[in-house]
Amino acid sequence: MNVRSQVSMVFHLDKCIGCHTCSLACKNIWTDRKGAEYMWWNNVETKPGTGFPTDWEDQDKYKGGWECVDDELRLRSTSKSKTVVNIFHHPNMPTMDDYYEPWTYDYQHLFNAPEGPDQPVAVPISAVTGELINIKAGPNWDDDLGGSPIYAEHDPNLAGLTQEQKEQMFAVERLVFFYFPRICNHCLNPSCVASCPSGALYKRGEDGIVLLDQNRCRGWRNCISACPYKKVFFNWSTGKSEKCILCYPRLETGQAPACFHSCVGRIRYLGVLLYDASRIEEVAKRPPEELVEAQRSLILDPNDPEVIAAARANGIHDSVIESAQKSPVYKFVKIWKIALPPHIEFRTLPMLFYVPPMAPVMSSRDDGAVKNISDDLFHDIDDARVPMKFFANMFGAGHEGVVRYALRKQKAVRWFRRAVTVGDVPMAVAERMLREAECSNDEAEAIYRLTSLCTFDDRFVIPPMHREEAIEMMEDPLEHKQSAGFGFLTAPKRGM
Ligand code: SF4
Ligand code: SF4
Repeated sequence: MNVRSQVSMVFHLDKCIGCHTCSLACKNIWTDRKGAEYMWWNNVETKPGTGFPTDWEDQDKYKGGWECVDDELRLRSTSKSKTVVNIFHHPNMPTMDDYYEPWTYDYQHLFNAPEGPDQPVAVPISAVTGELINIKAGPNWDDDLGGSPIYAEHDPNLAGLTQEQKEQMFAVERLVFFYFPRICNHCLNPSCVASCPSGALYKRGEDGIVLLDQNRCRGWRNCISACPYKKVFFNWSTGKSEKCILCYPRLETGQAPACFHSCVGRIRYLGVLLYDASRIEEVAKRPPEELVEAQRSLILDPNDPEVIAAARANGIHDSVIESAQKSPVYKFVKIWKIALPPHIEFRTLPMLFYVPPMAPVMSSRDDGAVKNISDDLFHDIDDARVPMKFFANMFGAGHEGVVRYALRKQKAVRWFRRAVTVGDVPMAVAERMLREAECSNDEAEAIYRLTSLCTFDDRFVIPPMHREEAIEMMEDPLEHKQSAGFGFLTAPKRGM
């Protein structure tokens, strides 16, 4: 066992109201600069939809992430033999058309326009060329267009749905959408790190944050092709790549990342997970149907004396172990099993997890009213406006079991609370639902409290940062060969 610690995240999708406050908080702090205008380290997408950049989930198009061939993990975008060719040309890299041409407005014209018969207006101008621009796309151009034939009907997650399911999903009276906020997943097996010929990307030993050293970056852009989530961006002004840094300067001073701190819906949770780094490669090679459970098995019990001893032996500070014991992420992901990784079939082992949304499920047939108490208490989950297969494509590598489990448990918790507070559901029925969803009364209460009544300190359990341990952990005191990203050890040298 090679115990490492990682600052990890949970986003509760039922709570997201699509306000984009998170995106703007991040933009104002980190990417309000020349060359970074089009970057959204945090963005919020409407699902179904094509996202940002367009169709980023379609790896036949972008060739991001890993594939497992003959029991070997290989980057889909590049290889040793292709590195030289790829330096000059990345055939699958998104272009400006896949993002959008950033623009601003000619505000000066409002002040400097010559006197005339009409009010002056601020026309849009390209932030790249400075020329007048006819805006045709933006980072959230399909916002709320859950029924659009241009966007929603081209969502890659519709793959595998029957024609009937698709027709139902886009029937006017059954239209549905939900929001999908995204940042870098600070993956355990990051393909961006592995793809960089300059060793500019690295995963911090003490907290798992994936960073990009601007001094080392040579602008080869392998990382942009290799990241299947398209969360590395190229700064056209500096000629270097950039990405989400999980606000590490804020974390190091005990503050939540800006997008977390500002989240209006309070959907975001942050906490430490301890995991077994010696199993990363083995887990990343598992067949798709096993990936979610296998990744969960990497996460270790922070109260287990053996884990604690191994963590201490690896230089993890007691304060970080204590933080892991209080982590809300550990509860959502490992204990309750209701938070799932996005597109784990890309095999980067993302460390941001999502609680799949219930609202469209609950409102599928009976407008959300609790009135159909039938023998099958969970009938509407498989009969929802968002087909289970769609969620499975996003959060279960195409397999429905883990998503169904999470949704059943959430529905059971809702009915249980309804029985407690409103009383229109018999408690016996609610408790039967809890049992069928493998949830105790105490667990239901805990899920309810952390979902609905959580304070700032419940949502963000930020560990004290120990930069002094970083290099020691990178040097791997137990002499375990670190496999994460196959470039994990190419961290900056001491003192950089
Ligand atoms: S591969 Fe993972 S860690 Fe790297 S940029 Fe993409 S999401 Fe972030
Ligand atoms: S700030 Fe929170 S609620 Fe608003 S869009 Fe972002 S994640 Fe959703």
